[in-house]
Amino acid sequence: MKINENFLNLKDSYLFATVGAKYAAYQKAHPEKKVLKLSIGDVTRPLAPVVIGAMHRAVDEMSRAETFKGYGPDQTCYGYDALISSIRGSYARKGVSLTDGEIFISDGAKSDCGNILDLFSSDNTVLLPDPVYPAYFDANVMAGRRVIFADANEGNGFLPLPDPAVDADIIYLCSPNNPTGAAYDRAGLKRWVDYANERGAVILYDAAYEAFITDGSPRSIFEIEGARECAIELCSYSKTAGFTGVRCGYTVVPASLRRGGAELNKLWARRQSTKFNGVSYISQMGAAAVFTDEGERQIAETLAYYRKNAQIIADCLDGLGIWYTGGKNSPYIWMKCPNGMGSWEFFDVLLERANVVGTPGCGFGKNGEGFFRLTAFSTEENTREACRRIAALLK
Ligand code: PLP
Repeated sequence: MKINENFLNLKDSYLFATVGAKYAAYQKAHPEKKVLKLSIGDVTRPLAPVVIGAMHRAVDEMSRAETFKGYGPDQTCYGYDALISSIRGSYARKGVSLTDGEIFISDGAKSDCGNILDLFSSDNTVLLPDPVYPAYFDANVMAGRRVIFADANEGNGFLPLPDPAVDADIIYLCSPNNPTGAAYDRAGLKRWVDYANERGAVILYDAAYEAFITDGSPRSIFEIEGARECAIELCSYSKTAGFTGVRCGYTVVPASLRRGGAELNKLWARRQSTKFNGVSYISQMGAAAVFTDEGERQIAETLAYYRKNAQIIADCLDGLGIWYTGGKNSPYIWMKCPNGMGSWEFFDVLLERANVVGTPGCGFGKNGEGFFRLTAFSTEENTREACRRIAALLK
């Protein structure tokens, strides 16, 4: 018996554990201080009332033999019509026409970021932006793939473009990005789509934060001509509608995406019917309520709440003349540490002198050193107070 030794190549992730330990140690030593967390990476507002109503009705259906549901429908990899057609409708409003068979219901974007790799040989080279959402990197290390990086930095606004001299087979893009909050415009995405099509590469496009886009940037890679021939899109109700604890998402694999003589849509359907048994009916019915007129209105209120917090943070940094990305199309603000400080150095100063916690950028890759992530997921009151303290500390 041999284990998968690739697991031994994973580095321990100290980032959030160290943030938590430093916060706990400070709070223990200074119990009288109110430490404010602008490090929250999870949603905090409750589910929309239409979602709650739909989930209650689904539970009631489960209580009666006549309406009880077991496994979901086989022919759509266990996605219910009501949900698939509401997702199709939401894409149509972005100008993207999908067929039902192109939409696969998932339990969230994170699982499919890794699961989708089943379709590709471990010989492929994977290109990731640096800094990056750590799950993309770890999932590929586990599979033993060679990983190379595209440098994201202040010079390119943390939105790297393809380098024609670099050969990659699988490219992960996340827009709006975690951790940087930066979002690609049409021209930037078109460059990646053209690069992928020229080389026969595949783009894995993580659109988990698309609902935060406000400036007309693309909300789906399929808004870009040629993307249906090279991209798979991973999306989720987690940040759109507060489903981080409910679990529901979707992956779009276009019928026209062919590699190695095969239709990836068919391979994915085969993979899912073998290794997956669907998302609960109750979660799917809650998710189906999100893209109704009333659902869209209600989630817009919650998104507006987070956006206001992002604006409060952005205004604070503007007032201090600090460089940052994000905040506009994203709940994340990626700021340059003041006075040339390193990420952890700034973390300590902020914790000890302003009693505010954020996330050191160096935890997301080497290019994150000297940067710091703040998030809009706290309460408005705490966000305002944290910004008042940051302004007092740095002015
Ligand atoms: N992708 C990105 C970039 C994320 O930041 C997150 C969660 O923070 C996820 C995916 C995970 O989303 P889900 O809850 O749908 O698994």
